[in-house]
Amino acid sequence: MILKKHLKSIMSVTLAVGLVLSMAVAQPNLGMAASADDETYSGKTPKYVFMFIGDGMSYPQVSSAEMYLGELSMPGQITPEQLDFTKFPVHGALMTQDSTSFIPDSASTATSLASGKKTLSGVINMDETKSIAYTPITEALKEKGYKIGIVTSVPITHATPAAYYAKVANRNDAYGIGKQLAASGFDYFGGGDFDQKTGPKGADQHIYEIVEGAGYTIANTNEEILALNNKSGKVVAIDPDDYEAALDYEIDRADGELALSDYVAKGIEVLDNSKGFFMMVEGGKIDWANHANDAAASIHDTIAFDESVEVALDFYRAHPKETLIIVTADHECGGMTIGYSLTGYSTHFDKLQPVKMSYQEFDKLVKEYQAAMPSDPMLSDLADEIEDAYGLDINNLSDYQSSMLEDAFEKAMSGEKPSDDQEKVLYGSYSPLSVTLSHIVNSSAGLSFTSYSHTGTPVPVYAMGAGSELFDGFYDNTKVYGKLSVITKLDK
Ligand SMILES: [Zn+2]
Repeated sequence: MILKKHLKSIMSVTLAVGLVLSMAVAQPNLGMAASADDETYSGKTPKYVFMFIGDGMSYPQVSSAEMYLGELSMPGQITPEQLDFTKFPVHGALMTQDSTSFIPDSASTATSLASGKKTLSGVINMDETKSIAYTPITEALKEKGYKIGIVTSVPITHATPAAYYAKVANRNDAYGIGKQLAASGFDYFGGGDFDQKTGPKGADQHIYEIVEGAGYTIANTNEEILALNNKSGKVVAIDPDDYEAALDYEIDRADGELALSDYVAKGIEVLDNSKGFFMMVEGGKIDWANHANDAAASIHDTIAFDESVEVALDFYRAHPKETLIIVTADHECGGMTIGYSLTGYSTHFDKLQPVKMSYQEFDKLVKEYQAAMPSDPMLSDLADEIEDAYGLDINNLSDYQSSMLEDAFEKAMSGEKPSDDQEKVLYGSYSPLSVTLSHIVNSSAGLSFTSYSHTGTPVPVYAMGAGSELFDGFYDNTKVYGKLSVITKLDK
């Protein structure tokens, strides 16, 4: 009885404190102008600003890559090998919720980073009523004389890059986003292709014609891309080896295929001018790998993302007082964590080393197998492919892993979509066989995922260079815009 009474009084105090607090604390920037007012900056204005966004990259994605590299170079030493950007002197963290959910999408979160305002999931640079357009920081920087570059490993019309040059009520309007790219007047676009080339009905003018009509050169062979420089004018460099308009997963990238870092290096050459530049670089396939729960692909793409940061770091070393580099993310993806119920307190990152391809490449092998229409399909028919791709001997799995894999093979061969909750948990919307193989490798390594979607986990921010000190602390993602505008003196 006493306990109950005590509990009741604690609850009423908590309630009262909660009420006072909620009255005192303003709602976080919902539809409000970016608040640069709580920031002051009297340092040097950077002439060169790099904004790196690891899509879907929170702490687990970064740390798993560092642990993987540490295990590779110092086996058994439990020493992470730091990525270049985690060595940056300034470290902060961002809250990522949008106006729809604590679990946001890339359209709303990139809007927050680019324009300093919240909006609904799926909306790019428009308010919650989808009638008022926001102005991304790139427009103001362009007016100030900065050249603007946008680089991504996924389609150039995808949500994150689009938030730096387009305003649309629906992120799926890729053709409309492409037309806005043409009208932006920005200087360099590099990486993935346009998602929708001829409009939703396939009848409109080809997007390349519109882009070229606006004065852009489209470079889409290695030779054309490598020949670009600061005399090339406005350019769109499209990856010649793209698959579904995106760069290959880093784990699948063949020798001679351009990497994300190549598009950053080329961007620096193209944008080089006396007034400076702003370049946004998205590691978009980190997100895609985590949606598919493919930890190995996530790790390799996070390392590729770090290699693209290294290019900016080299540039920084030549212009230390005039360069700002920010590395952050839009949201977490997959609910990745380091730890798994059956491996407890141990990890075995060496189990990820034999993984030679992404789920996407393995799915192609399974399709070939199915196309040959085996009369009595058996998991053992794919034993060699599984060993080559994942380093797994199917005759040497635990009973639990074997039964999961047999079920997944059967489901994959049936071609049916997941029907009940159990199947949705096991496979999401992915091919049951490859996603189960990823799960087996992940769990052997001591990694696991809780979702095939994004999650509400905060994301890190790393910064170095002119104005970087403003990025420490824990704050809302909309604040990045305010900090950048103060540092670049957009209000002056
Ligand atoms: Zn995503």
